[in-house]
Amino acid sequence: MANRKETGRRGSGRSLGRRPEAGTAAWRETLPVELNGIYEADVIGLSHEGEGVGRVEGYTLFIHGALPGERVRVRVSELKKQYGRADLLRVLEASPDRIAPACPIYERCGGCQLQHMSYDAQLHWKRQMVVDQLERIGKLRVAAADGEEQGVVVHPTLGMQDAWRYRNKVQVPIGEQEGGLVGGFYMRESHTIVEMEQCLLQHEASDATVGRVKAIARELGVTGYDPVRHEGLLRHVVVKHAAATGETMVVLVLNGDTLPREAEWVARLREAVPGLVSLCLNVNPERTSQVFGETTRVLWGREVLYDAIGTTRFAISARSFYQVNPVQTEALYATALRYAGLTGRESVVDAYCGIGTISLFLAPHAREVYGVELVPEAVDDARANAELNGIRNVRFACGKAEEVLPAWREQGGACDVVVVDPPRKGCDSRLLETIHALRPPRVVYVSCNPATLARDLRVLEDGGYRTVEVQPVDMFPWTAHVECVIGLQRIET
Ligand code: SAH
Repeated sequence: MANRKETGRRGSGRSLGRRPEAGTAAWRETLPVELNGIYEADVIGLSHEGEGVGRVEGYTLFIHGALPGERVRVRVSELKKQYGRADLLRVLEASPDRIAPACPIYERCGGCQLQHMSYDAQLHWKRQMVVDQLERIGKLRVAAADGEEQGVVVHPTLGMQDAWRYRNKVQVPIGEQEGGLVGGFYMRESHTIVEMEQCLLQHEASDATVGRVKAIARELGVTGYDPVRHEGLLRHVVVKHAAATGETMVVLVLNGDTLPREAEWVARLREAVPGLVSLCLNVNPERTSQVFGETTRVLWGREVLYDAIGTTRFAISARSFYQVNPVQTEALYATALRYAGLTGRESVVDAYCGIGTISLFLAPHAREVYGVELVPEAVDDARANAELNGIRNVRFACGKAEEVLPAWREQGGACDVVVVDPPRKGCDSRLLETIHALRPPRVVYVSCNPATLARDLRVLEDGGYRTVEVQPVDMFPWTAHVECVIGLQRIET
């Protein structure tokens, strides 16, 4: 069936669209759609951001809220030469995977992307996205699901039993609107803050804590931050809740270095927040979209909160990276441990080690673990965590993995297993070269970005490694994020 334009017909129909401004490129005239026009689109896939990929006469439109297989009515909101964006007006033919979003603010909030898709379908899609990237970018052959064909085994995504309220950390932006303090979430594709009472991804205790902080701020006359004027005091409220211990840390991020009526804040929050062990102030006076500034001061309680993964305890300070989904982290690390194939005799490198979580998880099964991490506070936490758990066969270095490890190798460093867990941009090429030079029999890659993962796997394969298996783990249900653990083996000795 041909796509039917309902309005905005070229020539006569610019009633909804703006007239092209002077100098607008001629390519616009060649497109089958125009800005603000209303069309019917067939949705043929999901983008990596979880948007429906719609087609109107061969032109691609990204449509938030649309699912593969659906036919939808949309209004075009943005035009580019190769593709555009459109708002979903109506689902004309619904996918069997479509469900009603559980969260009342889902349509406006930018936090989740897939609440309109059944959980099983999300898990299936996440695996398929990994397969696509491995094949397209990594040029890898993926084994068929029945296991007959040779190739990389990509397991079904490991999902959660209960996929709600899994997050242990919330960062709520605070602002000022019509004279009042608001705190909640950024509207989709915008920096406007919308007031929020609860987030279904957060632990209930964190929602309650944020609500109390906002109430106290209003009572004590604290102003919310205005990023345009660079005025107002309270920028963010960060709440960390430790699932294993029930401890809570509250960090108030200020555009300034003092909190008026500090003693009252401490007294009120201690009374209002059960499990509070730490109230910190973070000073961020910069014009920046980064949440934290450089200085953190404890107003009351400890500098850290304690949590546990399995039997290993962790001290976590305000600014250190810590996995946000404790249930799935355990599954992720258990898979990494399995792929590392440890017998107790191995020397392991843990690159991008954060506060040492993977290092300490592996250490009891290895001869020694060497963790490398860029952020100094995280390295301090890692060392403290080794001490806390009485683990002596680990050591940590602070610096870039791609600089520390080549130097270490030149001085005779060697290992049996390398674990990498890089940020979204993937591994630095110098680190991959160092892995080739070290030639460990096994590499375990933990990835939060299938695209850079696939790119790096190609480099490792070309250097003599074979990608054996891939386990997608759903760390972020209802969002488009995908996490994976990959086991590689050296085939050329
Ligand atoms: N493995 C840890 C942390 C993973 S997040 C865990 O599971 O908790 C990635 C970490 O890499 C962050 O802590 C970040 O600070 C660190 N990092 C970023 N670039 C780096 C680099 N070039 N060298 C070493 N560490 C880096």
